[in-house]
Amino acid sequence: MGATLWDATGRAPVPNAVTLVRGNRVVCAGASGECVAPPGARLIDGQGRWLIPGLIDSHVHLLFLLHGSAGEELAADLRDLLAQGVTTVRDMGNDPAALLARVRALPASPRVYAMQLVAGRRFFFNGFHGTETTRGTIYRQAPALTMQSLGWRPLLYTRSDDPDSIVAEARDAGAMGLKLYAQLDTVSIRRLADAAHRAGMPVWGHAWVQPASALEQAAAGQDGVVHAAGFAGELFDAAARDTLVNDGDLQVATAGAASSTSAHDPRIASALDSMAGMGTFFEPTLDAVRHSLASYDARPPHRPSLQERYARAAAEFGVEVTREAVRRGVRISAGSDHVAYGPAGDRASLFGELRLLVDSIAMSPTAALLAATRDAAAAIGGEPARAIGTIEPGRYADLVLLGKNPLEDIDNLDSVEWVMVGGRIWRPWQLRSGIAMR
Ligand SMILES: [Zn+2]
Repeated sequence: MGATLWDATGRAPVPNAVTLVRGNRVVCAGASGECVAPPGARLIDGQGRWLIPGLIDSHVHLLFLLHGSAGEELAADLRDLLAQGVTTVRDMGNDPAALLARVRALPASPRVYAMQLVAGRRFFFNGFHGTETTRGTIYRQAPALTMQSLGWRPLLYTRSDDPDSIVAEARDAGAMGLKLYAQLDTVSIRRLADAAHRAGMPVWGHAWVQPASALEQAAAGQDGVVHAAGFAGELFDAAARDTLVNDGDLQVATAGAASSTSAHDPRIASALDSMAGMGTFFEPTLDAVRHSLASYDARPPHRPSLQERYARAAAEFGVEVTREAVRRGVRISAGSDHVAYGPAGDRASLFGELRLLVDSIAMSPTAALLAATRDAAAAIGGEPARAIGTIEPGRYADLVLLGKNPLEDIDNLDSVEWVMVGGRIWRPWQLRSGIAMR
């Protein structure tokens, strides 16, 4: 009590507020006259602080079964996310059953929702496609094999398959929705989206899932698209999109077509307008691109590889596409594409994504925070859309107490004093030291 309450419902901050929690839920949140603490309630002083909803990162990858196990990295990463005020994450690619079983065994973790990866035939069977290079012919293995070697479990869908059985398989694995990864056409997307929606499950996918473009995906009923760079697909016709089957060709095409000028192409503008009209969500994932640029910039002078040229084109294009999207009223969710594995400095974070939404896209800190609370919950959909994202009666008591005002400066998100998940309080030092983790 006594903190300034920003509840993410759209109302102005409430000074000197009272927030009542019973069990794992919020029962009242408002001005001191509105909510009265019952006798015997445990009081927590929040004078001079800010109380906001737990943050939601709607795009992470947690499971990497490299070297046989990722148990310790996973546990440490989830504790670290919690220490940053992230109380919910949505994993956009994994083995849902394996991931959720591991997370359930951990004492300190944000809520984890998992999506089921689905891709088309060419993702699994590429006929050992050969590419001629100056150093000889390179034979690529099918992308599905690379993905499976991480420990992920994509499902194959072709037009002759029953979409309801894919949805049932995803649900049996514990997934809450589908993530369409690659090699799917509009007919397949429509069938999968209809089947998932019949089961109350959302469908997301990479922008430009090949051959379908972001506009075609949205029109086929997909609920959200990820990665701003994928809007480069709008710049090719259907036949050209269909020929860009493997990742190398896709990167060459994007490196050639994506720029800060082409981001304002009328075809992209009209795709964004359609998405705004249909309420399709968009996750730009800007921080992941920024991290890959930073690693290239840190190298001594060198001749840029295809990957570097792709990353640089994707970065400037992505920022401009995101600006257009915000201007045209597309709903934004602040997913970061954070991964739970590898050097911490190389990994995207929600904090980084929010900073970029404010600094590069010129969103207000309030708008950026909504993209990581109320709007991220709506983007995830399903039960989370009704249970998290705002501080309101009936929602989970997922709260963050900050020492400084994040609406004034988004960097103030680094002033976390404690984090509450379902009524249980964690302090950052406790999470980072690993003490009292039993
Ligand atoms: Zn991702």
